[in-house]
Amino acid sequence: SGARVRRAQNTKLSQYLERGVDVKFTDVAGLGKIRLELEEIVKFFTHGEIYRRRGVKIPGGILLCGPPGVGKTLLAKAVAGEAGVNFFSISASQFVEIYVGVGASRVRALYQEARECAPSVVFIDELDAVGRERGLIKGSGGQERDATLNQLLVSLDGFEGRGNVITIASTNRPDILDPALVRPGRFDRKIFIPKPGLIGRVEILKVHARKKPMAEDVDYAAVATMTDGMVGAELANIVEVAAINMMRDARTEITTDDLLQAAQIEERGMLDKKERSLEIWKQVAINEAAMAVVAINFPDLKNIEFINIAPRAGRELGYVRVKMDHIKFKEGLLSRQSLLDHITVQLAPRAADEIWHGEDQLSTIWAETSDNARSAARTLVLGGLSDKYYGVSNFWVADRIDEIDTEALRILNMCYGRAKEILEGNRKLMDAVVDTLVEKKSLNKQELIDLVELHGCIRPAPPSV
Ligand code: ADP
Repeated sequence: SGARVRRAQNTKLSQYLERGVDVKFTDVAGLGKIRLELEEIVKFFTHGEIYRRRGVKIPGGILLCGPPGVGKTLLAKAVAGEAGVNFFSISASQFVEIYVGVGASRVRALYQEARECAPSVVFIDELDAVGRERGLIKGSGGQERDATLNQLLVSLDGFEGRGNVITIASTNRPDILDPALVRPGRFDRKIFIPKPGLIGRVEILKVHARKKPMAEDVDYAAVATMTDGMVGAELANIVEVAAINMMRDARTEITTDDLLQAAQIEERGMLDKKERSLEIWKQVAINEAAMAVVAINFPDLKNIEFINIAPRAGRELGYVRVKMDHIKFKEGLLSRQSLLDHITVQLAPRAADEIWHGEDQLSTIWAETSDNARSAARTLVLGGLSDKYYGVSNFWVADRIDEIDTEALRILNMCYGRAKEILEGNRKLMDAVVDTLVEKKSLNKQELIDLVELHGCIRPAPPSV
């Protein structure tokens, strides 16, 4: 891949330098076209002069977005490995220190080292830990974080002759980053790395099987089918566990069966891996119970099959399986009222967090469901189903985006109020569902109905939009 860049030798006592990073793109599987974008970043190093001469701007930072374990760190290392440059890494959670000034001085030191040893890749893991919009966190912890973030912005801006130090950051939440971070010249390039699909999983399994004694007839597709929802980190683990299985039986080859058994262990492991504190169990329970309690109020959503708060494959938190008509929803065939009900349910976790923990103690546990609500509200407005724009369906006009957002926000606020009202009216039921969930980790339909009958359930009248 082109000329290799000479690595600076001045790598004496670096704190953040990772030595011997020798990852290549062939070690990262299942990426499809994403790989092309990363190859271009390698060229910024290897052919930086050409870019500069032709006046092509080299980005200051690249944001790799995606859930944990999909290979973001691996990719950043592969960029450094392919370009033959130094790799510096730090986890942004290390920036967030209780002592004022520590975070900011770490950022400064990191960039100083990276510059002294340029060309180099600076990798910042979990950027959202420090890059959250400023001013959102109250108290002194917030001030410290703001100081760190400011230093990071200064460091990102501070290069003459861009292309010698490129920052790659990873995040699962690009949407909550401070707008200043994603301005041109900073993290102005976003690359989304999704969880692998079936074919991606086959490829990842094969990459990890390369250095293992695999039986010739291993059925990778079968293993990939069994591992729906799993990410690269989990698949890598499966191959390792399969190898241990083989060793234990004193065999010389890893078989399909070894892999399938390992997949089962991985799935089960995920179920009990998370040793949550009581407090966390309770928080997750409130999150899921809120959705269930609000949903049982609505005709299209009341068909709750079960609520679960034990972690499962591919899911960090618990989930409520509501038998909403997902097909109708996806195809845009839900009625206006059903959409509003859906939005209200998706906002319930946020409302519950406010009621049970108070506005000062809000977490972000509800971030995903709030996103769902936002997008459903836009769908509703764009579909001409809101009062203000009833029947007006051709909204895809750029200069009306603000209007759409204003109207969507009005709907969100209204649904939010409704979710709060329902939850406040059903505190007893909520407490009962939460307690049972914390104790038993899941609740089936009949158990939920029993609790509703015991504690009653107040249903507010539906509003008009
Ligand atoms: P992230 O940074 O997204 O949380 P990592 O890069 O740390 O994920 O992945 C952890 C490990 O999982 C990697 O070191 C690698 O062994 C394996 N892995 C993850 N994604 C992939 C992939 N796409 N191809 C091959 N291995 C992968």
